[in-house]
Amino acid sequence: MNEKKITLSEDEIPENWYNIVADMPNKPLPPLHPGTKEPIGPEALAPLFPMELIKQEVSQDKWIAIPDEVREVYKMWRPTPLFRASNLEKLLDTPAKIYYKYEGVSPAGSHKPNTAVPQAYYNKMEGVKKITTETGAGQWGSALSFACQHFGIDLEVYMVKISYEQKPYRKLLMNTWGADVYASPTDKTDSGRKILAGDPNSPGSLGIAISEAVERAAKDEGINYALGSVLNHVLLHQTVIGLESLKQMEKAGDYPDVVIAPFGGGSNFAGIAFPFLQHKLTENRNVRCIAVEPASCPKLTQGEFRYDFGDTVGLTPLLPMYTLGHNFVPAAIHAGGLRYHGAGVIVSQLLKDKLIEAVAVQQLECFAAGVKFANAEGILPAPEATHGIAQVIREAEEAKKEGKERTILFNLCGHGYFDMSAYQDYFEGKLQDHHLTYDELHSGLKDLDTPTI
Ligand SMILES: *Cc1c(COP(=O)(O)O)cnc(C)c1O
Repeated sequence: MNEKKITLSEDEIPENWYNIVADMPNKPLPPLHPGTKEPIGPEALAPLFPMELIKQEVSQDKWIAIPDEVREVYKMWRPTPLFRASNLEKLLDTPAKIYYKYEGVSPAGSHKPNTAVPQAYYNKMEGVKKITTETGAGQWGSALSFACQHFGIDLEVYMVKISYEQKPYRKLLMNTWGADVYASPTDKTDSGRKILAGDPNSPGSLGIAISEAVERAAKDEGINYALGSVLNHVLLHQTVIGLESLKQMEKAGDYPDVVIAPFGGGSNFAGIAFPFLQHKLTENRNVRCIAVEPASCPKLTQGEFRYDFGDTVGLTPLLPMYTLGHNFVPAAIHAGGLRYHGAGVIVSQLLKDKLIEAVAVQQLECFAAGVKFANAEGILPAPEATHGIAQVIREAEEAKKEGKERTILFNLCGHGYFDMSAYQDYFEGKLQDHHLTYDELHSGLKDLDTPTI
């Protein structure tokens, strides 16, 4: 009989993170200074991040040891289970075999604590007492609140104003774990005041919130900054997902033909896909890795590969990435975690080199897929995660048409129990697909004066 739930014991939590840079045929291009536009070295990041994280950011070592203290905290929810989606297979009447890794069992309900915990830990080790960060819908903010609470660090969170008003429960979760949460744009920073001067009713954006959090940390020597996606060290920490999945697939006696994950900045995608992609890069093994983005924020499928800022105001280093432009304002879709203008540097280079694939999906197809999944497997997926599920269903239907087996693995990166208002809007017929016009798509790219590649 096929096992429904494939588990690992605590001592099977990985001892190292996997750094894919070691195996990449073309290494990522260097970041540039926002002012001089010259390549910067690791020391330029020192005002914001602890040295250990900066070392990881530029490391070419294939394996990086996970500190025992971090593995101890991981034990609160790791190893996470891998499930065979047997009921979904039946519902779809497909010859495909579908597996999913479930990251929603973490305290914050998503994959984000996998990096929040080591980030807080390295800050603690270097004596940092306070961190700032931004959050969109609140997933990252709550994960970092949990981690900072654990290590006794103060946390200041700049939360995109529209989410602050619409999604009060994530804010309360952050407060529960001791964080101070502000609706961004605020009047606490120059960046926030500049935005408010232009538009006093600005709903905010992730790019604006990043500007505020970075400015605050850059101006105060005692304060560091933390980012929940995009950067190399964040992707690195998330590889615990894929490393565990490798062992679990082996236990199940299977290996995926396709690995699928939703895509915001790239961290949960990298987390599940890179350990498998390793086999493609080093052993020529044929595994397709597909990143799924929302059609309303299609940087991978319709963006440009060029240097751009990570934030709206232009305070961060310039990164070589697929981007829609740092001024691009995505429609207010419910998958808040996917509404970011750029993609991580490593993932961008892999896409450029055609080693991974990307697709864009509309939100109605995603919610329909999410409801189908909840009916079959019981778990209510986060709106972000439904993007991956929509692509899983497409793959399973293709397999059915061809009458061939296909083994699919996807990352159920979070649950949706804090996102019921999104499901409510879907059930009440209030959600729409959003077809970007040429002008909308180019709104952030046409005046972009950052270096091309
Ligand atoms: C933050 C988040 C995402 C998007 O970020 P990535 O870095 O691309 O993973 C996707 N899903 C959930 C549940 C999130 O919290």
